[in-house]
Amino acid sequence: MRTFDDLIKPSVRRLQAYTLTPHRVPIKLNQNENPFGIPPAIVAETLRRVAGRDWARYPDFVPTELQTALARFAGWQADGVVVGNGSNEIIQALLTILVAPGTPVVLSEPTFTVYRLMVEVLGGTVVNVPPRADFSYDIPAMLEAAHRTRAVAVILCSPNNPTGVTVDEPALRAFLTDFDGFVVVDEAYHEFCQQNFVPLLSDFPRLVVLRTFSKAMAMAGLRIGYGLMAPELATELGKAKLPYNVNFFSLAAAQVAVEMYADELRPLVERIIHERARVSAAMASFDRFRLLPSQANFHLLHTPHIPPRHLFEALLAWGVLIRDVSRYPLLGEYVRFNIGTPEENDALLAALQAIHPEAAA
Ligand SMILES: *Cc1c(COP(=O)(O)O)cnc(C)c1O
Repeated sequence: MRTFDDLIKPSVRRLQAYTLTPHRVPIKLNQNENPFGIPPAIVAETLRRVAGRDWARYPDFVPTELQTALARFAGWQADGVVVGNGSNEIIQALLTILVAPGTPVVLSEPTFTVYRLMVEVLGGTVVNVPPRADFSYDIPAMLEAAHRTRAVAVILCSPNNPTGVTVDEPALRAFLTDFDGFVVVDEAYHEFCQQNFVPLLSDFPRLVVLRTFSKAMAMAGLRIGYGLMAPELATELGKAKLPYNVNFFSLAAAQVAVEMYADELRPLVERIIHERARVSAAMASFDRFRLLPSQANFHLLHTPHIPPRHLFEALLAWGVLIRDVSRYPLLGEYVRFNIGTPEENDALLAALQAIHPEAAA
């Protein structure tokens, strides 16, 4: 008789699931969310729009209204917009149509762990090209690896989670010009660095740009993301996406958020960028920790004297939740935290100053 092990794909059986322990603490700086929360005006307008909706009915098969709004918002064409249950779903659908057993995909780790997880679930092969010592992307090495392995795609996260580095436009253009696979740029944090590669889409049909409502847009709980791509690719992706993947409530909220972005959300993004500069300046004088520069709403913190796990636990005792990223490749001495409200950032700064290596041991 076949065992359980015989039935599950070996590529899945050996994987560790992506997971996060929920800690209920006053100051939550571990998931790069918008610390100011969703603006009440967006909630009120969303509730008004969904109040009359019949919950017994499916949403539209294709969320045309939101696609059109996102196309205008992002500067692309509506038939090249795919809306997902979080941008993670777009990553999954995209890899589903590209990756067969053994298909190579180029990544540069440390990066967002979902990419590797999805490639491996599908039986594909991750070709990992480590970054340079300052964590910047080693573009020539990535390009060489992509050619050598005939990779189907390269995934660049910019700004990269968890390192905060960006890929610059000349480097991206080099990839788009010299590589004949897909180039996926995950712009989950683009609002914090004003970087935007959408204008390149019209010249480069192999480019895919991923966006999310989970970070700057303050809607992680509603699960919405989108991909911007050539309409031809959007059509193929539509075959791998589940029908009715986004519920009508989330569709309505995303629509309202796009309409009210300039008035309600952009000011919060500005405050986060302002706080990021303040936190960096304050941490520059720390001698036990070193803050790495970041273009996103989070930072890596190098902690060579206090093991990351101890620092995590010590901060938790102060009511501050950060992310221990020490299990990521190359990040054995690092933790990550996101920028919070001014009060939350002050609490983090005070706690870091108070935690001594002896106490945390
Ligand atoms: C948070 C994050 C996302 C967002 O995923 P959703 O499924 O939209 O919540 C995507 N990519 C990266 C790199 C992230 O850090």
